[in-house]
Amino acid sequence: MRALAPGFTPYRWARPTHEVAAQAGIDPSQVVRFDQNTPSLPLPSSRPGAVAGALARVSGYPTGGYRTLRRRIADYAGVDPDNVVLGAGADDLILLCARAFAGSGDVVALPQEPTYPLFRIATQLALAEVGEGDQVMTFACRPNNPTGELRPLPVTRPLVVDEAYFEYSGETAVDLLGDDVVVLRTFSKAFALAGARVGFALASAEIAAELNRRQAPAPVSTLSAELALAALASPPDVGPLLEERARLASALHALGLSPWPSHANFLYVPVEDGPGLADTLARQGVVVRAYPDAVRATVLDPEDDDLLVEALARALDRPGPVAAPGRRQVRRVRATAETGIAVRLGLDGASRVRVATGAGVYDHLLEQLAFHGGLDLVVEGAGDLETGEHHTAEDTALALGEALDAALGDRGGIARYGDAVVPMDDAIARVAVDLGGRPYVKLRLEPDPGLASHVLGSLAQAGRLALHVDASGRDPHHTAEAAYKAVGRALRAAIRLESQAVPSTKGLV
Ligand code: PMP
Repeated sequence: MRALAPGFTPYRWARPTHEVAAQAGIDPSQVVRFDQNTPSLPLPSSRPGAVAGALARVSGYPTGGYRTLRRRIADYAGVDPDNVVLGAGADDLILLCARAFAGSGDVVALPQEPTYPLFRIATQLALAEVGEGDQVMTFACRPNNPTGELRPLPVTRPLVVDEAYFEYSGETAVDLLGDDVVVLRTFSKAFALAGARVGFALASAEIAAELNRRQAPAPVSTLSAELALAALASPPDVGPLLEERARLASALHALGLSPWPSHANFLYVPVEDGPGLADTLARQGVVVRAYPDAVRATVLDPEDDDLLVEALARALDRPGPVAAPGRRQVRRVRATAETGIAVRLGLDGASRVRVATGAGVYDHLLEQLAFHGGLDLVVEGAGDLETGEHHTAEDTALALGEALDAALGDRGGIARYGDAVVPMDDAIARVAVDLGGRPYVKLRLEPDPGLASHVLGSLAQAGRLALHVDASGRDPHHTAEAAYKAVGRALRAAIRLESQAVPSTKGLV
């Protein structure tokens, strides 16, 4: 084998989740990763159904060079299909560009430091060196990882501009393809497909043809290509993420920190001892990327970002600017062929509730239940709604039940019993619940708007509750709403911590 540069260091992955969990003494599902710069959940388009056709043909090679995907990418980027080069993630294209433009003894310029480490690695793998002056090519990262800056484009050519975070900034060098500029993009960030490994380069038709000649014959799997197509059919709205980035930045300012203005989905936060702080946070199950005098944290969503702010406040011994999460919290993901549902549940919550699975009225009913239960609950996911709401509503209830069961732990010290009577206009619901651990359901909702009884029954089975509901009224929605609110009120009483053990005179539950 040919020797690499003496100082060569390969790409280093961050510590795996199970190791962080073992060190923190928590379940791996409770670790929150702010170090990946990826959304925590896939887009609704990334469902098993999206790859079913490709799976049925997975025994064969992709033939024809992914014409449809290249056309859709070209439309998305405002170029022609001849300008598109596919790769297994932007990383693959960084490596391709380095070996296409540079060779033994050549100099490659990286005008910004710190920047994405793969530029240096790719340069050295091409047996070239990082330097300045007589460079054969330049890498620029816009927005820059890890700092989030958007510096002016270097004037040197050829220039490879890594726009992995383009969707968060809206700034692109695509207009310069005719001027020896190559743009790299990815489906790993805003499109939430990092595990699928799909990226693309945009270049003049001549450069694209040269890159394609040097690329592997089929760098993208047929399954990944289908996921990318499905994602392009309904591109994500990054608006909420940008708002959350501003909210998180101001929470960090309130902690006395000074995150850099960011054009990406992460914040670069100067601190005295980056590795030390990252280690302290990891011991609380919160993973950030460490630099000698900074940490970098991905912007996720308000609920998760509050965990980061809270953990930082504890690590820095400063008063927390956000409400502390309760002790009995769990995170769960339930995936079936029909649905993927992620649940974050806190029993000692403040009724911070968001349920968004697309299952219409059932999302709303579960929000009512959680709100009146005093729970913190975020449920997100997607299901095969084209077949109706049944799978999604049922799997959401099962996922919530499993989360409730997990959050209750050994159920020691809880009040165990709860009951409530809730009227709503013409409807009235009477509910009693026993959290002793033996599932049993006796439900009467008359009239039922459809799946209201079934959803409650699924919740009770998965959560191991004995649940009695007697609800009636003229309007089916009022009846269901009264029932779900009453279940929430009853649960609120039953989950309350009273002592050290489950109340039972038999020593059994
Ligand atoms: N470029 C930059 C600037 C990145 O931050 C990353 C991922 N962290 C990549 C490229 C790699 O992206 P991909 O998953 O498409 O290989």
